[in-house]
Amino acid sequence: MDTLKVRDAKDVEEVVRAAIANEQPLEIIGHGSKRGIGHAMATNAVLDLSALNAVTAYEPNELIVTLQAGAPLADVLSLIDAKNQQFAFEPMNTAPLLGTPALGTIGGMIAAGLAGPRRIRAGGARDHLLGAHAVSGFGDSFKTGGKVVKNVTGYDLCKLLAGSWGTLSVMTEVTLKVMPKPEAERTLLLRGLDDAVANKAMTAALGSPFDVSGAAHLPKSAFLAGTDGLGDLAGQGEPLTVLRLEGITASAAHRADSLRELLAPFGTATLIEDAASAALWATVRDVLPFAAGGALGGWPVWRIVCPPASGAAIGTLLARETGGDVIYDWGGGLIWAALPPKDDAHAPAVRMRANAVGGHATLIRAAEDVRRDVDVFHPQASGIAALSERVRASFDPKTVLNRGRLSRGAVA
Ligand SMILES: Cc1cc2nc3c(=O)[nH]c(=O)nc-3n(C[C@H](O)[C@H](O)[C@H](O)COP(=O)(O)OP(=O)(O)OC[C@H]3O[C@@H](n4cnc5c(N)ncnc54)[C@H](O)[C@@H]3O)c2cc1C
Repeated sequence: MDTLKVRDAKDVEEVVRAAIANEQPLEIIGHGSKRGIGHAMATNAVLDLSALNAVTAYEPNELIVTLQAGAPLADVLSLIDAKNQQFAFEPMNTAPLLGTPALGTIGGMIAAGLAGPRRIRAGGARDHLLGAHAVSGFGDSFKTGGKVVKNVTGYDLCKLLAGSWGTLSVMTEVTLKVMPKPEAERTLLLRGLDDAVANKAMTAALGSPFDVSGAAHLPKSAFLAGTDGLGDLAGQGEPLTVLRLEGITASAAHRADSLRELLAPFGTATLIEDAASAALWATVRDVLPFAAGGALGGWPVWRIVCPPASGAAIGTLLARETGGDVIYDWGGGLIWAALPPKDDAHAPAVRMRANAVGGHATLIRAAEDVRRDVDVFHPQASGIAALSERVRASFDPKTVLNRGRLSRGAVA
């Protein structure tokens, strides 16, 4: 396997042009922390972006940071945290779930587009990407908002690059919006609700005027030994419905009181604050109950996006049918499902349930032989698939970038 470690955008152009000339597809990696997601690729050349790791510009007063794509996410989070700022979309750290040592790079964060619990209020990764420099599958550099390769003019490139899993272009530099960290956070805890009632409680909270920035439900089984971040909460052994409020201290406290009153029909809510609350939401964001090193570490894990009102019904059925376990985020709109090992990872059941409500499911964790036989990303309807392919081909006509990552049909 050739690894081509590039130093700048010019190097990337050269590597991509050589790949086109040699008809040799490239696997694009930052730290390779998300290599386990998607289909294994039949490439034998790796384009390694990890040396493009500089912070180009950080202007805290302007709420903007410009970074080379290989900048380590951990370092960037520390950098902006020192100025009391954050990425509002709350990027998830896939390392515990996938069992990888590295947290990953900024490029990988954008390419995967995996936003955390605050997505329901702050939007997804794509909404915080202000601009990018990238190299297309033609081997040409382009940037959003300015000079654009003629073949790809007309698209909202930031919206496309987030979630493209490296199939459209090689990002070399990105500009992201940062936001001030809230002064305080308060999380209300409701205990002992079943999934359906918890779904209703989350819907009530999200429909309230109290600006809820996280709504999740952890069933009893999420408290199996080995889950970090739950602290004393783990000892209680009851399902936990959690609702987060953020902002200036007086406002967060006041809204927590009002929300507690609103939720009284669902039980008496208790409160955790600041550090304990942050640890709990990191546990939800990174799906720590299903961590690779935990009790369910050997089980495949699905990420199912569906209308929030359908969440409990789908999650309950899947858990019952398969003997698996589920965690709900986004008020029920995001279901993490860890299902007992099976050759097809229970794909027909998962896809049937997701399709029934117009949702979709991605197999985030599974052994390579399972990912060879099962579609990792949700199969698209034929019209959408044809459109996606036209978009992809307009960026990378020779399919030299991450060929086969998204679809089982594409072989190197
Ligand atoms: C050329 C190309 C082809 C692709 N083919 C496929 C494919 O066949 N199957 C596939 O699953 N993925 C495919 N993807 C990947 C898909 O586009 C990404 O998974 C998605 O963009 C994830 O990024 P996100 O920022 O939207 O993630 P998130 O914002 O976290 O959203 C996760 C998913 O939820 C969906 N979503 C977000 N908000 C809503 C909402 N309000 N209502 C309904 N759905 C919502 C998004 O479409 C997204 O897929 C393809 C990408 C490209 C570039």
